[in-house]
Amino acid sequence: MSNNKIKVGISSCLLGDEVRFNGGHTQSKYCTNVLSRYFEFIKYCPEVSAGFSTPRPTMRLYGNPTASKLVIKGHENQDLSDKLIEPSKKHLEKTNDLCGYILMKKSPSCGMFRVKVYQQNGHAHQTMRNGLFAELLMQTYPALPVEEEGRLNDKALRENFIMRVYAYSNFMKYVQNSEKYGDIIKFHSRYKYMLMAHSQQEYRYLGKLLANSHNQNYEEIKTEYLSRFMRAIQTSPKRRNHINVLQHLFGYLKKHINSDVKIDILNVIEQYRKHEVNLITPLTLLKHYFKQFGSDYLNSQYYLQPYPSELGLQNEI
Ligand code: SF4
Repeated sequence: MSNNKIKVGISSCLLGDEVRFNGGHTQSKYCTNVLSRYFEFIKYCPEVSAGFSTPRPTMRLYGNPTASKLVIKGHENQDLSDKLIEPSKKHLEKTNDLCGYILMKKSPSCGMFRVKVYQQNGHAHQTMRNGLFAELLMQTYPALPVEEEGRLNDKALRENFIMRVYAYSNFMKYVQNSEKYGDIIKFHSRYKYMLMAHSQQEYRYLGKLLANSHNQNYEEIKTEYLSRFMRAIQTSPKRRNHINVLQHLFGYLKKHINSDVKIDILNVIEQYRKHEVNLITPLTLLKHYFKQFGSDYLNSQYYLQPYPSELGLQNEI
């Protein structure tokens, strides 16, 4: 099992390491008890790696939200940003095989988006930003799925993040190191319905990108494809988009099933539309009939199985 685990970076304190400024940790039970069965976590504490002690004085971002520096509260003249960034750069260079990252919220180093930046008058700016390590991570690996641990409590965000980690991992495994143009076509084809659930427009755009790319540098095509693909699947699809995809998939069965079964399937899709059942219910029904009547093409769609079913994520959306 461990060989099949996907490498995912994580803030060390989320795994229970007592590395926080107050000598404590912020262990995430979901990460240690559930996700660790599927992900091989590569932990990193940018502040400890920068040589700051534990416990340590409170650190914060200071200055302008677009050009902040890391300081110790009360010692705003001393800019510690480079001390944190240099070892973090080296760490990120070494860990170029990660397929996702889970960060601790609000930290001036690890926080995502909602990190306060303090002004000279002691108050925080209204505009918030990424922590310094989080910013560096996103600049270094712009297509990498990155999420804040607290947001994983939201079922839709959690499902979307884990789906993206698996999608990124599939791209790395089957496309990134392959010289065969056919492999990216296969990837696009297997993600057809997943992409359609997120954005039909992006599905078509990416299809055209591949169709017009025969004479272009394959490495550049891969980079552009991955960037657009990951952006396209970054937010959860609306329920009506899922319904559209479910109806498309149902269309493949029409010739093979009798009218009673057709009505059953359409009723379940309708129940999903009314929020009476979750996505797993119509999907399970369709998968059942695809086993008998579906093609290899249909059964290979990641939309039907984007991650291990034991995670139970389609039960929640
Ligand atoms: S720097 Fe990041 S990993 Fe280290 S304690 Fe703070 S939030 Fe946790």
